Amino acid sequence: MKITDIRTVRLRAPMGAQGRVESRTGVRTHRYALLVEVHTDAGVTGVGSCSGNGLVLEAIVAHVLKPLLVGMDPLAIKEVWDTAYFRAGVRAFGSRGVGVVALSGVDIALWDIAGKVKRAPVHELLGGKVRDRVEVYATALYPEATKAAVEKAEVLARQGFHGIKIKVGFDLAQDIEIVTAVRSALGPDFPLMTDANMGYGLDAALAAAAAFEKLGIGWLEEPLFMEDVAGHARLKAATAVPVALGENLHTRFAFESFMARDAVDVLQPDVARAGGISEVRTIAAAAAGRGLPVSLHTYGDGVALAASLHLAAALDNSAVMEFDYNENPLRSDLLQEPLEPDNGSMRPPDGPGLGVTLDPEALRRFHFDGGGDLALWRPTLRDAGQSPVRVGES
Ligand SMILES: [Mg+2]
Repeated sequence: MKITDIRTVRLRAPMGAQGRVESRTGVRTHRYALLVEVHTDAGVTGVGSCSGNGLVLEAIVAHVLKPLLVGMDPLAIKEVWDTAYFRAGVRAFGSRGVGVVALSGVDIALWDIAGKVKRAPVHELLGGKVRDRVEVYATALYPEATKAAVEKAEVLARQGFHGIKIKVGFDLAQDIEIVTAVRSALGPDFPLMTDANMGYGLDAALAAAAAFEKLGIGWLEEPLFMEDVAGHARLKAATAVPVALGENLHTRFAFESFMARDAVDVLQPDVARAGGISEVRTIAAAAAGRGLPVSLHTYGDGVALAASLHLAAALDNSAVMEFDYNENPLRSDLLQEPLEPDNGSMRPPDGPGLGVTLDPEALRRFHFDGGGDLALWRPTLRDAGQSPVRVGES
């Protein structure tokens, strides 16, 4: 069996009725995805997804990965991954970053092919499910009036979510006010997490962690810049609030640099960014050896969500998984059988491979010729009080 072609599909969809989502990384009005189709001479096609600027990722797929991988056996997933990364890719696209993101999409498609050929769902190929239902928490509370945030949190708690995550990293006093209000509304035992999206400097992160510790917060996510290993290590040593990170890290090597310095409590690889199903499994195994949980980051389309669910069902150290609660047509409309939570948990599809079928009408509707958004990111709290600004898309 041979890979005959690798094609890509760029997608964009509006946020829906709510119109926009704001975090410390910027204001977003659209969702984007790059789907990757791996075609074979056996007539089996696999689909994957990668998360980033579609134009940039597409160029890497078309000009680096496709020429390298056409002709290889799609079932030799490790051989393909190692060829694309160690033997050639790193010289073309570097050891971390967009090349790994593009490879993530190819890797997910290869697992889809393997499952279709072997007539088994991906979770079975990963060793079998260790849990039938994947518990999810809701990423849901963005900067908004405290009263509105509390009302929304109460609705989410009633829907059965196994936790709620609140976006912070804007203004420290406001962050603490909103987290305090939600905590007092939901009681001391409901799992509440916070996500600063790299919005704090170390001093602000230490102050936030001290406040969140008293509020029994489940974790403080991405308090500092994604590459700041030393800063996260100092923060972790100073607080009992678990430090979570990883949605912007690529490959086992990035995660190892944090684990080796005791700079992280909860690892959050994204299957559509960190290197695909293969590499997230490797990252999770390394974390398991240190007794650390993995909480998969997912913010993408239905294909990425399906891949995440297969992993979360099969990894024994998978903790509660992220569910992005906001409207996302690339999740709700892209698949013929959409994946949605039921009373706070989700099941991975049971069909062969990823077990998903793309809706052709949705593919036409969301087809997009551009790349992605260019939200302006502000790295520290020096400019607290200003909102991130959306500066358009490429
Ligand atoms: Mg996050």
